[in-house]
Amino acid sequence: MSLDLQNYDENNIFAKIVRGELPTQKLHEDQYVVAFPDANPKASIHILVVPKGKYTSFHDFSQKSSPEENQAFWKAVSALANQYHLEETGYRIIANHGDDAGQEVPHFHVHLIGGQPLGHLVTIS
Ligand code: AMP
Repeated sequence: MSLDLQNYDENNIFAKIVRGELPTQKLHEDQYVVAFPDANPKASIHILVVPKGKYTSFHDFSQKSSPEENQAFWKAVSALANQYHLEETGYRIIANHGDDAGQEVPHFHVHLIGGQPLGHLVTIS
């Protein structure tokens, strides 16, 4: 079934985390952003960075977020990379938009991945 990225789903799992209805280990939180470990990590460091605003995907966020939200979001991503010393060793940031990218959760998020060599940019299977 394809994701509906036109209409924000209030019951998506990250909406529940943002609202505090599901527990998580918060690695960063500010007025606009929350970050927590991915439940199914692909590397030794795999953090999800999530805006608190209701954006379905990168496309939605980039079109509709305020300058303050946008700046706070990307600053949080880089602050987390610094916090985990990834700016020294290297890291990858990934945002999946839509079905071809395999987006599972329809609330915009960035995967911040590092802590080990990450191999090829993309594996298509
Ligand atoms: P995406 O395919 O970009 O939508 O990625 C969704 C990610 O969310 C996957 O990597 C999942 O492992 C992760 N995930 C799903 N539920 C949770 C949760 N409750 N806490 C942390 N990560 C989750």
